[in-house]
Amino acid sequence: MKAARWYNRRDIRVEEVPEPRPKKGEVKIKVAWAGICGSDLHEYLAGPIFIPAGTPHPITGEKAPVIMGHEFSGEVVEIGEGVEGFTKGDRVAVEPIVACGACPSCRQGKYNLCVHLGFHGLSGGGGGFAEYTTFSAGMVHKLPPGMTFEEGALIEPVAVAVHAVRRGKMLEGESAIVFGAGPIGLSVIAAARAAGARQVISVEMAEKRREFARKIGADHVLNPTQVKVNEEVLRLTDGRGVDLAFETAGVPVTLLTSVDCIRPDGRVVIVSIWEKSAELNPNLLVLTEKELLGTIGYRDVFPAVIALIADKRIDASQFITAKIKLDQIVKDGFEELVNNKDKHVKILVSPQP
Ligand SMILES: [Zn+2]
Ligand SMILES: [Zn+2]
Repeated sequence: MKAARWYNRRDIRVEEVPEPRPKKGEVKIKVAWAGICGSDLHEYLAGPIFIPAGTPHPITGEKAPVIMGHEFSGEVVEIGEGVEGFTKGDRVAVEPIVACGACPSCRQGKYNLCVHLGFHGLSGGGGGFAEYTTFSAGMVHKLPPGMTFEEGALIEPVAVAVHAVRRGKMLEGESAIVFGAGPIGLSVIAAARAAGARQVISVEMAEKRREFARKIGADHVLNPTQVKVNEEVLRLTDGRGVDLAFETAGVPVTLLTSVDCIRPDGRVVIVSIWEKSAELNPNLLVLTEKELLGTIGYRDVFPAVIALIADKRIDASQFITAKIKLDQIVKDGFEELVNNKDKHVKILVSPQP
């Protein structure tokens, strides 16, 4: 079968690899659509980050070259020994977390905090940029009738946003500001809306992305190169500040502005992964009892996200900006995202010939 494998920075190859067989407890999936994620792009430009390059991943036992693609949907075509509850032809999406099941976090059910945390499609063992893949049946979720495979491929990035909103303990009727309107920022806007936010403010420099933010449901879209964001937020909230801020841009200035924009006793959720450190005077939190929280991946949210997408409380289909074939993945996928990043939210890849 054909698969896209990461060899090195700027070196992803579509090549022939052996078709996987489902091991005990696994199902084999014929991949329908797989999304290219911001972290895939990071691996392409600046990797390896999650990809095990020198030493094999402790759970999968594999190292580069590895098959990429962790946001995908498909159809069950084979069922491994001991698997119950699945039949051939089931339409599914994969929750791609690879966890050890034995560390203290795993034993508490917080599998996204596993000491050996990995992702199917980054850490070895297969992935969605391939005609077929196999994965543990316990991490495979069925799609409801009426949900398209395209929508199925968007469950994973939306799950990141829904988990972030849950981490922020958002209550219905609260207000939120979202820094950054890339795929995750836009998903957070949609997830905050679905959680019952009364007002969502988006902050984004790129014009095209500000348009997406408006379309996806932000009430106010601010260009930080043209307005003072903290002053504008005070104006929009009658001098109170927002209840919650979500930081998805990963730059020091947005972190500081996030803290600045929330009301006393408000919360900032950091959703982005950082390339370097940021400086923050702790008094900004101490004297106002503000909270600063992190969030990584998701846990126990896939069924909720599937329901939110199925009944269009989150309209995931509007995130899709291009659909390509696996053979085009480097030129029209990764390179397109490098050169025309602002034009895209999500590029979907079909590995089927
Ligand atoms: Zn991702
Ligand atoms: Zn673990």
